[in-house]
Amino acid sequence: MKEQSIGTKCVQAGYTPGNGEPRQIPIIQSTTFKYNTSEDMGKLFDLEASGYFYTRLQNPTNDYVAAKIAALEGGTAGMLTSSGQAANFFALFNICSCGDHIVSSASIYGGTFNLISVTMAKMGIETTFVSPDCTPEELDAAFRPNTKAVFGETIANPALTVLDIEKFAAAAHAHGVPLIVDNTFPTPAHCRPIEWGADIVTHSTTKYMDGHGAAVGGAIVDSGKFDWMAHAEKFPGLTTPDDSYHGITYAEKFGMGGAFITKCTAQLMRDFGSIQSPQNAFLLNLGLESLHVRMAKHAENGQAVAEFLESRPEVVHVSYPGLPGDKYHAQAQKYLPNGGCGVVSMEIRGGREGAEAFMKRLRLFAIETHVADARSCCLNPATSTHRQMTEEQLTAAGIPAGLIRFSCGLEDKEDLIADLKQAFEG
Ligand SMILES: *Cc1c(COP(=O)(O)O)cnc(C)c1O
Repeated sequence: MKEQSIGTKCVQAGYTPGNGEPRQIPIIQSTTFKYNTSEDMGKLFDLEASGYFYTRLQNPTNDYVAAKIAALEGGTAGMLTSSGQAANFFALFNICSCGDHIVSSASIYGGTFNLISVTMAKMGIETTFVSPDCTPEELDAAFRPNTKAVFGETIANPALTVLDIEKFAAAAHAHGVPLIVDNTFPTPAHCRPIEWGADIVTHSTTKYMDGHGAAVGGAIVDSGKFDWMAHAEKFPGLTTPDDSYHGITYAEKFGMGGAFITKCTAQLMRDFGSIQSPQNAFLLNLGLESLHVRMAKHAENGQAVAEFLESRPEVVHVSYPGLPGDKYHAQAQKYLPNGGCGVVSMEIRGGREGAEAFMKRLRLFAIETHVADARSCCLNPATSTHRQMTEEQLTAAGIPAGLIRFSCGLEDKEDLIADLKQAFEG
């Protein structure tokens, strides 16, 4: 049978009920699992058999949903985490330890920036940030002998830069390290980074995958394409025996397709316990069932809103990769041929006051610190997430005081545009 399309996988991948079993994914609301003999259970602890023993490490509901996300991304294995922050931390910490180094695009989510530049720095892991628009030579110069991973976001939150995945993958592979891509904004419905050379893909499933603002969560998918053994000296955690698991060498025992996720589950989930609750995994799966349908509508609304905003005299600048004049338009056409997402940003004349007056009049776009759910929302960083910054600091950070970020939901675009129009005219 021909490989299924993304839409079909959104609906059906990951879980196939047997005769008489529930059609919908069962929520296995149990911390623990029963065995007939200690020997049976011992095999699980030795990773000799696969199965469940404690929900801090693994739960069947989560695994059905992780398998669906892995299928959507075209990977060999996947796992869910309690949040997107946990997913990015686990993906990096699975292969980096004290004394190691990461090369990251500078255009990434603020939470991830803090995670790697502050918290992981305290763990002895350093990061060099490069412009997403750097030349291959500049990118190459950022590597050190102790570099263990390259990181970037397909469409960056909130800057809306589009990552040149092939450029970053080529540099990572030339230095014998994997490329980790956070694919939260486009989702696999609109971009599958593995097809362009990414090795590991991460998600904040809190955003479009859930899509209803209902459940915080994260996911990690392994492409199964990175040959850890070929760079064994760089990744001893995968290529030498793990004393905390009876001397198992993950890359030998689980191969390229399974080593990364098995180690991440067996060590990091065991020790940090950032598991997603099975209830949340169930809600996430409901979101995934309509992901392909929703993403098309989010992108359609984003495009229509961006075009409308661009036509307004009150607007200084609009960022949306789908606009022909956008700096990232050519890259978007290559990596996001079916559209991006529903997040659009604009700078309105009048700075903070202009933004505040405009947003006060909006009726459908609610003021929220969130993006990527069914209901449209907006945010002015200068008066919310970045309110401690002075005018000068905001300019230096590339965040004009009049910047408004919109997340276009699933309402009809005519109504969204009418709402924006009345707010401008007021
Ligand atoms: C929101 C977000 C995260 C963090 O995810 P949480 O689920 O909030 O922990 C990471 N990366 C990107 C691109 C995000 O938008």
